[in-house]
Amino acid sequence: MIYLDNAATTRMYDEVIDIEKDFEKKFFANPSALHSFGMDVENKVKEARQIIASYINSNENEIYFTKGATESNNIIINSIASEKNTAITTKLEHSSVIDAFDNSSFKEVKLISNDNQGFIDFDSLENLIDKDTKLVSIIYVQNEIGCIQDIRKISDIIKRKNKDILFHIDATQALGKISCDVKKLGVDAMSFSSHKVHGPKGIGGLYVKDSFKIKIKPVLFGGRQEIFSSGTTNAPAIYSFAKALELSNKKEDFSYIRDLNTYLREIIENTISDIHVNSPYENSSPYILNIAFKNIKSEVLLHMLEGDDIFVASGSACSKGNNSRILSALNLDEKYMDGAIRFSFSHDISKKDLDFVVEKLNQYVEEIRKVF
Ligand code: PMP
Repeated sequence: MIYLDNAATTRMYDEVIDIEKDFEKKFFANPSALHSFGMDVENKVKEARQIIASYINSNENEIYFTKGATESNNIIINSIASEKNTAITTKLEHSSVIDAFDNSSFKEVKLISNDNQGFIDFDSLENLIDKDTKLVSIIYVQNEIGCIQDIRKISDIIKRKNKDILFHIDATQALGKISCDVKKLGVDAMSFSSHKVHGPKGIGGLYVKDSFKIKIKPVLFGGRQEIFSSGTTNAPAIYSFAKALELSNKKEDFSYIRDLNTYLREIIENTISDIHVNSPYENSSPYILNIAFKNIKSEVLLHMLEGDDIFVASGSACSKGNNSRILSALNLDEKYMDGAIRFSFSHDISKKDLDFVVEKLNQYVEEIRKVF
């Protein structure tokens, strides 16, 4: 199998599968229990919180576990939403941000302009901020095309205008890959997820700077285990997530992934005509390469490739069946709009795998273009 859909989800590291299995056997007590067995599990959760806090350079008590980035994004947006407040975001957000805003009670949600590579316009952001602005939420690494926003610069613009505005980033595609140091980035809140870093699914987290904690409201009421989200603590998943993140430090080789990305892009550019590279060449995550093939239906191409055990995405998995909102925001030529394929990499892909992918791409693109 050649799995090139790692931005949708990753395969758990084998070591983490073993860690989680062992944890389920040995540490199945409820960490909220008063007995010593419960305390042992609580200590494991504490260890996980410490690992993640040190990874993002925050305090332990600023990390809240959630069931994933979707929940984290919803917690932030719903906490700040009110008929008196306005928020600012981009056209390039994940559906869990866009949909949460669409269903929120904000007086207005303003959209920052962007260029045709997905980078936001700093003047546009500055001009949108007014006295009612209480939240700015920005995607750090865009999940369909990979553009990386200059978060520090954005933070400086916001904080220069009003330091009480909560600045939140969705770092789901960034964690474990590029720096997520919350102090260097200058963010007040950050969402992230375990299953994008070879950890288990259904677990993620939210960083909230201590001084902003008072503004955050729970989404699920109950035992208040994670303050903003109630329910029995998923200790095995939390611990495995932290271990996956720790392992990613050793296993992930950014320059190897960059090499794979460039290799695939260049051979596609050199062998297939009428293509458009939607991912920027600079300031882009090497883990994501989005290429549109003119006059091709990406779904047809995707299904032909799966016949050879090659798995890619058309647009993002979360916007299945819809025309890509993101590609529309980039003003991509209509002729390319239906033909975008996202290749997303991991450490276990080789150049030989990519040679095979390109051989099949050449064959199928030619076949589809002959028919349509
Ligand atoms: N934000 C981004 C940028 C994502 O890529 C994803 C996952 N596709 C999410 C949020 C949602 O993450 P989760 O699956 O953990 O809810």
